[in-house]
Amino acid sequence: MARGGERRRMIGRGDHDGKDKEKGMLIAGNWKMNGLSSALEEVDALVRALKAHPAGCDVLVCPPATLVSQAAARARGKIAVGGQDCHPQPSGAFTGEVSAEMLRDAGANWVIVGHSERRQYHGETDALVATKAKAAWRAGLGVIVCIGETEAERNAGREEEVVDRQLAASVPDGAAAARTAIAYEPVWAIGTGRTPTTAEIARMHAHLRSELTKRFAAGGRAIPILYGGSVNPRNAKEILGVAEVGGALVGGASLKAADFLTIIESAPAGH
Ligand code: PEP
Repeated sequence: MARGGERRRMIGRGDHDGKDKEKGMLIAGNWKMNGLSSALEEVDALVRALKAHPAGCDVLVCPPATLVSQAAARARGKIAVGGQDCHPQPSGAFTGEVSAEMLRDAGANWVIVGHSERRQYHGETDALVATKAKAAWRAGLGVIVCIGETEAERNAGREEEVVDRQLAASVPDGAAAARTAIAYEPVWAIGTGRTPTTAEIARMHAHLRSELTKRFAAGGRAIPILYGGSVNPRNAKEILGVAEVGGALVGGASLKAADFLTIIESAPAGH
């Protein structure tokens, strides 16, 4: 994300209690397939803490679809709530699927698409991810499009080639900061406790920024590029301080409000 204050209005960003103030970084939690209704206590704890000490960034929680509605009801304008995936169609004979419109109806502001676990376990292609991103926009949701190379691809020196292909084919034309964020998540860093060095993150984010700017001109300068992959309370400050890191997509460390709050507090003020 361009530093130095390019103003933009993002769906679901800013104070969620109607003040519509943009804050800067986006710290998003992806609960994956974790959380029964008792996990809503973590949402309550987050909301309580952010009420007492407002965050200097935008905060998003993406619980399982079963909890979106209840999480949104308990968010009290302090956090945004999102889905983890959506179907391209608004409704129809697609057993087991959830549409972007349904997420929106349940109170979501955002949806993640193209997470590496969807690409890996559900065979999602870049083209399908792009249709899901368009579905999110159609429903009025902001979308986080995930991209990232595998370890084998990085070892072969192909990481830029891979993310370039994903960026070109998974992010539809018309992407703008008002409704889109990119999450760079090296697959080998997800859930492993391993992260790239800050120099490697800086290099990749600078590369992605240049690709976004080539494709979307000035608009591409404002699209936030989140980093994801084993962000935790100990490494968040360093990672969030890297140039062109516009926030984080956090898996495991977003499940406990205390850990997630430490990450939220690590976001540099005035970004
Ligand atoms: C993720 O699920 O997108 C993720 C980055 O997970 P973790 O933080 O657990 O590596």
